[in-house]
Amino acid sequence: MQAPSVGGVMLPRGNGQTVRLSRGASLTDFAEKINANPASLVAVMMNLGEMVTATQSVSDETLQLLAGEMNYVVEIVSPEEEDRELLESFDIEFGEDEGGEEFLAPRPPVVTVMGHVDHGKTRLLDTIRKTNVVAGEAGGITQHIGAYQVATQVNEEERRITFIDTPGHEAFTAMRARGAKSTDIAILVVAANDGVMPQTIEALNHAKAAGVPIVVAVNKIDVEGADPTKVRGQLTEFGLVAEEYGGDTMFVDISAKQGLNIENLLEAVVLTADASLDLRANPEQDAQGIAIESHLDRGRGAVSTVLVQRGTLRIGDTMVVGDAYGRVRAMLDDNGNNVEEAGPSTPVLVLGLTNVPGAGDNFLVVDEDRTARQIAEKRAARERNANFARRGVRFSLENLDEALKAGLVQELNLIIKGDASGSVEALESSLLQLDVGEEVDIRVLHRGVGAVTESDIDLATGSDAIVIGFNVRAAGRASQMAEREGVDVRYYSVIYQAIEEIEAALKGMLKPEYEEVELGTAEIREVFRSSKLGNIAGVLVRSGEVKRNTKARLLRDGKVIAENLTISGLRRFKDDVTEIREGFEGGINLGNFNDIKIDDVIATYEMREKPRG
Ligand code: GDP
Repeated sequence: MQAPSVGGVMLPRGNGQTVRLSRGASLTDFAEKINANPASLVAVMMNLGEMVTATQSVSDETLQLLAGEMNYVVEIVSPEEEDRELLESFDIEFGEDEGGEEFLAPRPPVVTVMGHVDHGKTRLLDTIRKTNVVAGEAGGITQHIGAYQVATQVNEEERRITFIDTPGHEAFTAMRARGAKSTDIAILVVAANDGVMPQTIEALNHAKAAGVPIVVAVNKIDVEGADPTKVRGQLTEFGLVAEEYGGDTMFVDISAKQGLNIENLLEAVVLTADASLDLRANPEQDAQGIAIESHLDRGRGAVSTVLVQRGTLRIGDTMVVGDAYGRVRAMLDDNGNNVEEAGPSTPVLVLGLTNVPGAGDNFLVVDEDRTARQIAEKRAARERNANFARRGVRFSLENLDEALKAGLVQELNLIIKGDASGSVEALESSLLQLDVGEEVDIRVLHRGVGAVTESDIDLATGSDAIVIGFNVRAAGRASQMAEREGVDVRYYSVIYQAIEEIEAALKGMLKPEYEEVELGTAEIREVFRSSKLGNIAGVLVRSGEVKRNTKARLLRDGKVIAENLTISGLRRFKDDVTEIREGFEGGINLGNFNDIKIDDVIATYEMREKPRG
């Protein structure tokens, strides 16, 4: 069978067989799987109207499109699946409790606090922590390790609740983006004097998307003008109907500042968990869970707060966390006390890892050091490969233009971080006011005060956003992460400079308009017949210049008789030339098109992008 071609490019042809590719694979990865030349795949994509380089990571749709064109079926393998397969090769299963029902024991709910900026998330987390230290564990130095556990009395029973103490939905989203489920219940904080705000809705949607039940904390009821009833009404529109109105969402009016009704809120969390979730885990197996926060400590090396999700983690266990591994040398709880073991839903700071894992990386305990090392190394290698393919492929202000032309983006997603809420708001509102035409929208996915963090980069990675740092810099591993993920982070200290740059990029982003520009005309004086090339037109160029490989149409008695031809051959005397100018003679070959006569006119043109005003 002859290999088919698209636009003259020979392409490999499959028999409908399935090719497995990692999410974010490049054309080179694809070509490798089917033993083809990457360049031929690039050419195919070009003919399909997409400009893609061989090593660039492409979307699932692009891979499908390309596969369809060549009669292959692609199966996109997500990073989570890949990892599952890796663990399976070591006979390890992650994410499932071992044994049957009889091995399961109740575990505390894990809660994330979300809501609009300034509605009191941080304050609430502080207040809860200060007032509800787990009995008998007070006395240590309170440590911020990224999560803490409190105890509360519900129906005369002590119940524990674990709080992830990075407020906001960023951490939550970051972990979800990695396929990790960290949270059982979300507390949605809404300030009663401010009501439902954009990030309230954002947070709500994140929780809903993750299938996490919500408890609403109507905060700041101590403030004059607070209207908790209004908040209930507003949230009804978003499907959160208060129990007292016949719905199934618990609303609790609180003041984080005055410590009002905090117990009721905790009770609501426990009751919601009991009503809608079956929170149990096997405490007896090898521990598994996720890393919540990690950093490099000068004295102690890599430290990581992990949340045990099942099993019990003990000192001396060998664990793998993302691409880090090691033996647990010591563990500290959220009060800074040394602990020997940690069961389900318990957060602990772990010492003894080889390097710093990322937030949302999963952890598991394995039998042998060697297994831990091998899994970690395989993950690191995979990560390196993925980075290599991904490098520089996300959108930056410079390549937005191309991205838009290729139809890859229609909106510019931004994440704005700044030193003060005033400047962030000023920058956001100026940017949102930029008017650059209808085709492109600016969307601010997130704004906040403080350094550019790993979770900002995560969000940017997940939604192809550009990060703007106004008078702030990247913190911790955020800059390496941005580099690794190819996220464009821009720093400014003058507002108008930021606006100017974004505006310029947006102008380039507008979809180009093309217009036809006539290049030259040539009159056919003679027709030569060549057995190899078909008919060759002997011409005199009448105006402009005729260039090789440009588009042409054929006119006879002033009428167009053929469109969309190409000047595929151009000669002067015996030489191939690239152009013939006005007043000169030469030979033109129109490819397969042979219907030419003396006195016909060949008019050549090209499509040019119209500049914007
Ligand atoms: P976040 O951005 O949601 O974390 O909000 P913060 O916890 O930083 O709170 C924003 C501001 O609101 C701070 O000045 C808090 O002290 C204040 N605040 C938080 N909760 C209450 C409250 O219940 N009553 C009053 N009056 N102020 C509060």
